[in-house]
Amino acid sequence: MNNEIKNREDRGRVEVSAEECKGCGLCIEACPPHVLELSERLNGHGYHPAAYLGSGCTGCGICFYTCPEPGALTVFTLQAT
Ligand code: SF4
Ligand code: SF4
Repeated sequence: MNNEIKNREDRGRVEVSAEECKGCGLCIEACPPHVLELSERLNGHGYHPAAYLGSGCTGCGICFYTCPEPGALTVFTLQAT
């Protein structure tokens, strides 16, 4: 992750429900700031689930609309303080 992303205050965050994820990678390709990756671990279905890198999410929701699995992704938008 580059410093510009690292230093910017997060405007959102995303939670992955690992057991709902099929590891297709569509959200990872679609995420503009590239803050999603495939986890190295396997879920119960034998897929590598997507995982949030932990910072840099803008809350744009693109990953949510890209994901074909209902319930795999939840996007939260954060209020500026
Ligand atoms: S909400 Fe946007 S920035 Fe955040 S993980 Fe999803 S696609 Fe990436
Ligand atoms: S688009 Fe959905 S199913 Fe595909 S890797 Fe991302 S969270 Fe998993």
